[in-house]
Amino acid sequence: MAADTTILIVEDEPAIVELVSFTLRAAGWNTFAVNNTAEAWEFIQRRTPQLILLDWMLPDQSGLRLLSKIRGDRQFNEIPIIMLTAKSMEEDKIAGLDHGADDYITKPFSPRELTARIKALLRRKSPEHAQTALTAGAVVLDPVSCTVKISDQKVDIGHAEYKLLKFFMAHPERVFSRSQLLDKVWGDHVVIEERTVDVHVLRLRKVLKSAESLIKTVRSVGYMLSEK
Ligand code: CA
Repeated sequence: MAADTTILIVEDEPAIVELVSFTLRAAGWNTFAVNNTAEAWEFIQRRTPQLILLDWMLPDQSGLRLLSKIRGDRQFNEIPIIMLTAKSMEEDKIAGLDHGADDYITKPFSPRELTARIKALLRRKSPEHAQTALTAGAVVLDPVSCTVKISDQKVDIGHAEYKLLKFFMAHPERVFSRSQLLDKVWGDHVVIEERTVDVHVLRLRKVLKSAESLIKTVRSVGYMLSEK
């Protein structure tokens, strides 16, 4: 679901913020812009974004410093980050990648190139935020229309079950604990009990009917989606 994808823009040049925000919203993502690393860090802790566009030269400290801080943090180190840089020097690009940037884009860039890079990174790093349909057995989930079909029949599915299914389908054959599912599906900052996960898994299986065996209980660990 594109509306679930929030991209944090850390950039101090208003014209670029405006262009980037416009471009990303047109592509269907939520955006939030801050102009220094302190505000960026504050935002990340309040509401973990699905991707960060990080300018290199910022007024309080360099984007590279924030990048290192994020990569060194257990809770946030997996957030996809694209560095925005006016620097085209090869050594700077290497420094960015060395510090854990997933990609970089050199200013000036075209909106189309930016959108393409973000899509590629989201597909690679967090497939549940990609815009392509996911398939598992007879189940097809379309993240653009937010619909789920089983053997070509559209099914009614609640929001929580949809998000859970999407997450499972994006990460097949991998076991997740209840607390990981809470983190990944409901967000890092939501306080709900682990038992809630069981309730939603139960509901999800009901929705899936004949395909319910896709969602496996892995005893004393958690759940996984498996076609085996
Ligand atoms: Ca700047």
